[in-house]
Parts: sequence; C-alpha cells; structure tokens
Amino acid sequence: MTQGIAATLIPGDGIGPEISDAVVKILNAVKAPFEWDRQYGGLAGVEHGGEPMPQATLDSIRRTKLALKGPLTTPVGGGYRSVNVRLRETFGLYANLRPAKTLTPGGRYENIDIVLIRENLEGLYVAFEHFIQVGDDPEAVAISQGINTKAESRRIVRYAFEHALAHGRKKVTVVHKANVLKSLTGLILAAGREIAKEYEGRVAMDDRIVDACAMQLVMKPEQFDVIVTTNLFGDILSDLIAGLIGGLGMAPGANIGPDAAIFEAVHGSAPDIAGKGIANPIALLLAACLMLDHVAEKEKAAAIRKAIDLTLNADKIKTGDLGGTASTGDFSDAIVQRLG
Ligand code: NAD
Repeated sequence: MTQGIAATLIPGDGIGPEISDAVVKILNAVKAPFEWDRQYGGLAGVEHGGEPMPQATLDSIRRTKLALKGPLTTPVGGGYRSVNVRLRETFGLYANLRPAKTLTPGGRYENIDIVLIRENLEGLYVAFEHFIQVGDDPEAVAISQGINTKAESRRIVRYAFEHALAHGRKKVTVVHKANVLKSLTGLILAAGREIAKEYEGRVAMDDRIVDACAMQLVMKPEQFDVIVTTNLFGDILSDLIAGLIGGLGMAPGANIGPDAAIFEAVHGSAPDIAGKGIANPIALLLAACLMLDHVAEKEKAAAIRKAIDLTLNADKIKTGDLGGTASTGDFSDAIVQRLG
C-alpha cells in the first residue's frame, strides 16, 4: 500500500469549494496518497480565522510542504494584498509552471501544447506602490517600482531549460520588453542568452518582445514550446494561452520552490458562477495531476488525464464553458466512472 503523504487543502473562495470537492472525489477514486489537512485562505480565511492568510494555514503548509489550493478572492483596488502573492513569497515559490494543452476539439486551435514558466517572486508584483498627493488630491500620482534581480532571472531561466530537457521539449522562448524596460526586463533576456549556451545542441533558445509575442500566440501558436517570462507578463500571457485551449477552466498551475510546492488552477474564484454548481473542475484537477507527478505518482496522474480525455471526447460530457450542459457534479461523476 502507498504510504500517506500529508498535504494541505485550501478549498478557497467562490467556485473553490465546489471544484475542490469534485477533485478530492476523483483523487479518492484513484487512491491518491494524500492525507488532507483542510485550511482556509482568502475571504474564507477572513470568515473563519479573522485574516486572509491565517497562521494555521501557514503552519500547515510549513509542515506538509505541499498544498492544493482553490482560487482565493483578492479585493480589487483597496483591501488586503493578494494572498496568492503572499503565499508565493512566504514559501519562496519562485517558478510558476503553467502548461496548456488542447484536450478537446472545439476550441480555436487543435494542437496547442505550450508550457509557460512565469517568474513568481519579483517584477511589479513586489508591489512597492504608493500615491503622491498633489493639491487636495491624495491620490493624484501613482508610483510603482518593479524589482528584478540577476540571480532570480538566472534561476527561472535555468528552471525553464531544465524543464524543457526533462520533458523532451525543443525550445525555450524568453519573453521580455527589453526595448523599453531595458533594465527591468533586460535581465531575463541576458540570463536567457547566457544560460542557453550551456544547453546548445539540446534545447534551442529564442526571444520575443511581449506585445509581439501576444500577437504571435494568437496568429501562430504552434511556433511556441516553452516560454519563460517575468511575473506580470507571465500572468497575462498564461490567461491568453488558456484562451487558446478552451478557456480558464482548462489551465492548471504549479508554484514550485526548493522546499515547498502549491498547486492551483490558473483561474480565479469566478464570483459570477459561484454556488451554481456549473464550474469546470478540469483546471484544478489537472493541477492535482501535476501534484501527483510531483510526488512521483505519475501513473495515477496519467489515469486521471486519460479519464478526462475519454469523458470529454468519447462520452461528450462537458461543462457549460466548453459548450456542454454537465454540472460540476455530473462531470466529476463521469470521470470517476471512467476511472472504473
Ligand atoms: P476568474 O478567473 O475568477 O473569472 C474569469 C471568467 O472565467 C469568469 O467569467 C468566470 O466565470 C470564468 N471561469 C473561471 N474559472 C472557471 C471555471 N473553472 N469554469 C468555468 N468558468 C470559469 O477571474 P476574475 O473574475 O478576474 O477574478 C475573480 C477573483 O479571483 C478576484 O478576486 C481575483 O483576484 C481572484 N483570482 C484568484 C486567483 C488565484 O487564486 N490563483 C487567480 C486569478 C484571480
């Protein structure tokens, strides 16, 4: 029998609890080895623990070093700082891995298979932000400073090349805006050019300016293999890439650090459909598959990926975002049935 692996489960806000329940049910069907410690974060953290990132949640992740996390709501504008960003900082989760693969026809493209690797700790997300008062207006001027370091740029680029090598991928594209943000985003380009030399003959390297890259991703996505980029560009481009494969309901993410890893969907808490039981659980389910890969349970991950494929393409059972009529529960029941 596989030994249990302690893991933190943060169901999250909005559609989080609905899709988390579905995913845990499917993980149980493959006898995934996780022993869950359920914790709160985001709005649920405020309701249960008085703060968006309760100490108990942090203590749990510090103990397990492994978490599956539903989406957490962050107030837009004012309010508390993003819990997702704080979790990444607290646990040093420097690499955000966002694979996007076509799973079912009907999207805009048939054969997308792109891995986007986003630097997760620096850039404009350090949020050194403030307003300057002019006259009577205390918010007349907004100032934000981004910070990128040579060391972190090299670490994320190396992660991208190592990922390419380990997964039989052929090319790493470094995405930047070094024509305008010459210092802030020039560092990742310089790191790319330097580190690419070590992988010559094994993994190719090229680069794109982020705006051109956005256009080319829509026009000719098949030219991309692995993309590595800075925090903000990665955030935006990974949603764009999710759009190429059928939407946010299909896109998983993994936040990886030297000591801990947190797995999540790329999407947010989807307040517009929360509580209706219609959310697509695939993104969080694929995040759970990345988590199974991470703990070397690759066969269980492969079984779930195959069941997703058969449920979508043979059984034609899909949630509304993919043009189907299945509820979250119908879809997860169908996956469990496929898992046999
Ligand atoms: P969102 O991703 O929650 O929703 C965008 C659109 O995609 C909505 O129309 C939504 O219904 C749809 N959608 C998202 N996930 C879906 C799914 N699984 N199935 C079907 N449709 C789905 O983005 P938003 O509305 O900009 O953000 C809502 C909240 O989520 C904000 O507070 C934001 O800060 C937070 N957020 C959290 C994370 C995270 O926890 N990692 C990521 C992004 C946004």
